[in-house]
Amino acid sequence: MEIERHEYDVVVIGAGGAGLRAAIETRSAGLRTAVVCKSLFGKAHTVMAEGGIAASMGNVNSRDDWQVHFRDTMRGGKFLNNWRMAELHAREAPQRVWELETYGALFDRTPDGRISQRNFGGHEYPRLAHVGDRTGLELIRTLQQKIVSLQQEDHAEFGDYEARIKVFQECTVTELLKDGPAVSGAFGYWRESGRYVLFDAPAVILATGGIGKSFKVTSNSWEYTGDGHALALRAGASLINMEFVQFHPTGMVWPPSVKGILVTESVRGDGGVLRNSEGRRFMFDYIPEVFKDNYADSEAEADRWYDDPDNNRRPPELLPRDEVARAINNEVKEGRGSEHGGVFLDVATRLPAETIIKRLPSMHHQFKELADVDITAESMEVGPTCHYVMGGVEVEPDTAASRVPGLFAAGEVAGGMHGSNRLGGNSLSDLLVFGRRAGAGAAGYVQGLSARPSISSSDVDAAAVRAADPFNPVDGRSENPYALHSELQQAMNDLVGIIRRGEEMREALDRLRELVGRAEHLEVEGNRQFNPGWHLAIDLRNMLLVSECVARAALMRTESRGGHTRDDHPTMEAGWRRKLLVCQQSGNGVEVTEQQQVPMRPDLLELFKPEELRKYYTEDELSDVHAKEL
Ligand code: FAD
Repeated sequence: MEIERHEYDVVVIGAGGAGLRAAIETRSAGLRTAVVCKSLFGKAHTVMAEGGIAASMGNVNSRDDWQVHFRDTMRGGKFLNNWRMAELHAREAPQRVWELETYGALFDRTPDGRISQRNFGGHEYPRLAHVGDRTGLELIRTLQQKIVSLQQEDHAEFGDYEARIKVFQECTVTELLKDGPAVSGAFGYWRESGRYVLFDAPAVILATGGIGKSFKVTSNSWEYTGDGHALALRAGASLINMEFVQFHPTGMVWPPSVKGILVTESVRGDGGVLRNSEGRRFMFDYIPEVFKDNYADSEAEADRWYDDPDNNRRPPELLPRDEVARAINNEVKEGRGSEHGGVFLDVATRLPAETIIKRLPSMHHQFKELADVDITAESMEVGPTCHYVMGGVEVEPDTAASRVPGLFAAGEVAGGMHGSNRLGGNSLSDLLVFGRRAGAGAAGYVQGLSARPSISSSDVDAAAVRAADPFNPVDGRSENPYALHSELQQAMNDLVGIIRRGEEMREALDRLRELVGRAEHLEVEGNRQFNPGWHLAIDLRNMLLVSECVARAALMRTESRGGHTRDDHPTMEAGWRRKLLVCQQSGNGVEVTEQQQVPMRPDLLELFKPEELRKYYTEDELSDVHAKEL
């Protein structure tokens, strides 16, 4: 079969923040780089990011620094984070934000002209650099602009804009190809024509984002089917922390057609509060023991904090997302929810209308257009929505290299950085810090190779046959991809959702096995020319594989921590903090094994008070810590 073929030094799969920042780095190292993305260039989750990018620049409170950011990130992830990633992230995020300014980003300013920073859940100081509530748009615009400027340089040098960096948009990668243990390229198809395309490259950077489309209620859009997670697994890489899925506390709940669409945390960061049907600010009832010292226990103190954060504690509406999502879930369950099964988010009585419109323009527009609600006059109805996956490809922190030589991962598709729960704003910074590192890691790898790996034509043929399977279902039985997708989403929502139970997760695994069996018989009509049913059939394999990782790991972790809450194991167990659950492909399914967390470097441990460590560490570990006289 004749297949369109392109040769590059590096292929970046994904054109969100992580992919674009990685591509800038590989191109700047002189490597010929392809950026491949499933949707239009510029249409990625990164563009949807609202609240901001976390970086301890200290512009609004000069007490902020990387150590405080590191501490907040570890606390938010309940100490399960890969501490080296959290360290690199906290140290390098400010440089990445300032670098964006050199690329042309225009952030909102403080009165004295510095980049403004806003409050967000779990961040001790105002830390999120932002552009109203459209920060992701500015981030993507700026990175794209930088890429265009690099292309202009290449045109000046080689007479060809695409000499060293080319974007292949609306092109979905379905397989990674290998030469022995090492990556040698990627195979995919053009969404419009259905034609196959082959990228021959010794290094691939996965930057494919999240997995939210496996759940029924989600803030994620159609692209987020866990492709990168599944590609990595099938290539022999490992995934970690897959049991940790973030349910954002505030998604829209009404009308049904928009259920799940995000309501940014900035609403709470800027003063919005949560109330139940009785009008009570219920978050005061849900401050967990580990956070008691840092959160206000009265409305008066919480309200004073906005103007005088040094002498008051934070409002509990700004607890990490997992805590707020569970609290909302409980209020609704106990009958104090809103008419449509959420709670009320009130900013109307808290801020003047013009401030709301200035600081939250997208939210104002979104509610007006989609729900006919004027948020300057009425409360919003909100409830939890599947938002982000903490789990992802296990990578080496400094280089973003996976276990497979030549395969790198950055951004939401990578695991470890956020532990069991991500703080808001820490994703945009993660994308830039680790996008850059993945680019540098891949460049170093390619430059160090003595020979270029090759692609076998039989592997390419096999990839093409697999892609076309839904046109040739086994033994004539027929399954509809839309029906199967809907069953998968319902099962994940109901059985592996925000509150989990062993019995239900076992049932989920049975259902997933059944769906995997039925997926062999997926059938689509027509031909490969723009055929969304066929696209979904291909994506479904990824969703099924990744959902199995989530369910298996969640069943194995018999504790509650961060984004993973078990009704049957409601407490956080110090013994589990040291354990990572690692998923690898085994036959047609997934095998999960335990792996010990690397102990934190002593100088980082020293950043925490022993009383705090006692909340998370086992007695044995603490005696080791004391032995080192911390
Ligand atoms: P993405 O930006 O998700 O991009 C993934 C790319 O991969 C896309 O180009 C897609 O087309 C491509 N792709 C996927 N599969 C394939 C395939 N098989 N073949 C080819 N291409 C593929 N985080 C914050 O820090 N602050 C915020 O304020 C914030 N607000 C958010 C608001 C919303 C509504 C959402 C949904 C998320 C928000 N987040 C926020 C989270 C954050 O935006 C994402 O985690 C982050 O943008 C992910 O970036 P990424 O580069 O990893 O991937």
